[in-house]
Amino acid sequence: MSARMLDGTAVGLAIRTELRPAVEAFTATLGRPPGLGIVLVGNDAGSELYVGSKLKSAAESGLRADLTRLPATASLGEVIAAVERLNASDVHDAILVQSPLPAALGAEAERHVVDHIAVEKDVDGFHPINVGRLVQGHWTLAACTPSGVIELLDRSGIPIVGKHAVVIGRSDIVGKPMALLLLHRHATVTICHSKTVDLPAVARQADILVAAIGRPAFVTPAYVKPGATVIDVGTSRVGDRALVESIFPAGSKRRDAFERRGALTMGDVHPSVEEIAGALTPVPGGVGPLTIAMLLKNTLAAAEQRFVKPATS
Ligand code: NAP
Repeated sequence: MSARMLDGTAVGLAIRTELRPAVEAFTATLGRPPGLGIVLVGNDAGSELYVGSKLKSAAESGLRADLTRLPATASLGEVIAAVERLNASDVHDAILVQSPLPAALGAEAERHVVDHIAVEKDVDGFHPINVGRLVQGHWTLAACTPSGVIELLDRSGIPIVGKHAVVIGRSDIVGKPMALLLLHRHATVTICHSKTVDLPAVARQADILVAAIGRPAFVTPAYVKPGATVIDVGTSRVGDRALVESIFPAGSKRRDAFERRGALTMGDVHPSVEEIAGALTPVPGGVGPLTIAMLLKNTLAAAEQRFVKPATS
């Protein structure tokens, strides 16, 4: 069996296209487009790339997106000040602080910064109040990556109700919100992490298996029930030749790409899972484009909530 590939690029494009009329209506009513403010601290190459795509996609969808750059030497106070300027801005409805922040700011820096984002502009739903709203099943801006996974499942005709979903990873930005969104859609949910005993056996129970670990090719066929839907959230930049050679045979497309670029973007799921899964997201081209599409969708939603149609629940 060869898994059906779930095309995140196409679904992401469909979501972005659908946003256009609502973006145009908002712009016509308010005399300005919905606005996103992004804060980027330091010069991490991956972050530069992600932020570049976010700015480009926002512009293509008719949204305003502005970048505030701070040097890697910026203090926590300076990062929070940048967030507070966006909180006070009339033209920015949504705020994103690009992760990761420089390690020098300390392990708790991201949490402190998120706590300062205005709740109604918290486009990724990381503020404790928005997390609480998500836990209680109220309307909220929910984390972009997990929301994108739900969109992908829905638009690919993969049922969630009553299915056993296993999420590997319990981070605040992916694993936990993913598990909650699946739970609210009436899946039976198991959350796994680095201390889970016999992880392959637990994962093999999944009808829907979500890998959000950050370890390239970690999920092998031993983790997958035949026919399961496997969602690969993992995105790792891999420069380890031995690892790449052990996974991709000489002459394969991916191996050639590695030879050209000296590194590959890899997911958490081993390519051999394609032989056993029923459906699978590729990396790249799976969850990544959905994260951006949901960022734009949440920016519009944040703008509409502020000015057009406030939430009732
Ligand atoms: P994270 O904060 O590092 O969390 C990783 C999770 O994986 C943790 O809960 C950890 O368990 C678990 N884990 C690590 N090793 C494990 C093991 N051997 N067995 C079982 N569980 C293990 O990472 P994250 O921010 O959630 O991101 C996860 C991955 O998704 C990364 O590759 C990231 O780049 C990617 N990502 C992609 C997108 C996208 O748009 N495609 C967006 C966000 C993130 P413990 O809690 O026990 O340590």
